[in-house]
Amino acid sequence: MAWYKKIEQRAAQLQPDLEILRMDLHRHPELGWEERRTCKKIAGLLSGWGYDVISGAAVSGHETGVIGILRCGAGPVTALRFDIDALPVSEVEKPGHLPFLNGFQSQNHGVMHACGHDGHTAIGLGCAQLLSEIRTQLHGTLKLIFQPAEEGARGAYPITQRGWLDDADYFLAGHIIGHELARGEDANVIPGVSSSLATTKADAVFHGVSAHAAHPELGCDVIPAISAAVCAMHAFKGPGFIHTGTIHAGSGRNIIADFGKLELETRAQTTQQNEHLETRMRSALQAAAEKYGVTCETDILGRAPSLVSTPQFSEFLQKLYSEELTLVKPASFSCTAFPASEDAAHMMNRVKSHGGQAAFLLFPARLASGLHNSDFDFPMELLSVGTAAFTSAVYAVMHP
Ligand SMILES: [Zn+2]
Ligand SMILES: [Zn+2]
Repeated sequence: MAWYKKIEQRAAQLQPDLEILRMDLHRHPELGWEERRTCKKIAGLLSGWGYDVISGAAVSGHETGVIGILRCGAGPVTALRFDIDALPVSEVEKPGHLPFLNGFQSQNHGVMHACGHDGHTAIGLGCAQLLSEIRTQLHGTLKLIFQPAEEGARGAYPITQRGWLDDADYFLAGHIIGHELARGEDANVIPGVSSSLATTKADAVFHGVSAHAAHPELGCDVIPAISAAVCAMHAFKGPGFIHTGTIHAGSGRNIIADFGKLELETRAQTTQQNEHLETRMRSALQAAAEKYGVTCETDILGRAPSLVSTPQFSEFLQKLYSEELTLVKPASFSCTAFPASEDAAHMMNRVKSHGGQAAFLLFPARLASGLHNSDFDFPMELLSVGTAAFTSAVYAVMHP
C-alpha cells in the first residue's frame, strides 16, 4: 500500500522540525495544570493546520488541555491522547547530558520533562500535521487530545468525565520506555499493554489540638498518630504497596503539633487490588487518628486503573507495522506489562465500555537513564517513529 510508504517518508522528512519542537518544549517544561505556554503553542499549530480547537475548561475543567478535531465526513471516530506535563525535577547540568550539551536544558528551574512528555507532545504535533496533509484520504472524525496533568494521574479522568471519549471507536496513546521492555529484540514499538500498575494518589490531613510541650495532657498531638499510620501502611504485605512520599507536621520543638499532612500513593498490579489497598490505607489512617484522639481527612487527588489494550487491536497494529512499515519496527509480541501507572487507562476503559478498541503503544529505546531521573533523555529518532506509528494506525482505521 503506497500510502503507508508516503506516511513513513513524510514522518522522516518532518524529523528536523520535530526535533526543534521537542527542544523548545524541553526548554519550557510546565507542571500539571500549569501548561499554559505549552497549550498556547499546541493550539496555535493545530489551528494553522485546519483543526477545530477546544481549549481549557471545556476540555478538562481546568485552564489547560487542548483538543484538536479534524472532521473528514462519515466514518469512525478516532481519538489519540498525548500527555504534555513535566515534573518537579531539577535537570542535571553536565556535559554527558545531551539537552545540556546541546543547549536545550530546562529554563524553568526545578521543573523538567523527565518523563518524555515533551517527546509525546512533539509526536502528537507531528501526527497533527501529517494527518491534516492526508485528510482527503480519511473518513470519519479525528480527535487529538493533548492532556495536562498526567503525572499524579489527574488529567485523564476529568477529560473522560466531560464526554470526550464517549463516541470514540478507536483510541491510541503511548509512552517512551526503556529498551529492556523489548526483551532483547531490535524493536522500537510494542503495540499494546496487557497491564500497568493501578494507582491512587492521596493526601491525608491530620488535625489535633496545640498546647505547650510541657503540658501534653492539654493537647492532642498529631505526630504519634501520623507515625503509627505510616508504620501500619508500610507494614502491609501486598499485593501492591502503600508509599509515603512526604510528611509535614508540627511547628516547633516545644509545641504539641496540631496539624500534619502526608502525601501518599498506592500501586498494585490490578485495579481490584488497588481498590483493596485504598481501603487498607483509609482504615490505617482512621485507626491511628482515633487511637491518638485526632482527626484525619483523606483527599484523593488522582487515580488510574490498570491499562489493558484490546488484544485484537494490538495484534492488528503489530501486523500492520511488520507488513507495511520499515521505520516502525514492532516487537514479535503484541502486548507486554507496563511497569508504571498511566491515567490514559480511564480513557481506554471508557472507549472499551461502549465497544470501541483501544491500544497503548510503548516505544522502547536506549534511554540515558530511567523515567523521572534528573538526567533522563531519549533518542530523537523516536519522534518520527512515533509520528509514523500513530499516523499509519489512524490511516488504517479511517481509510477502510
Ligand atoms: Zn511520569
Ligand atoms: Zn510519563
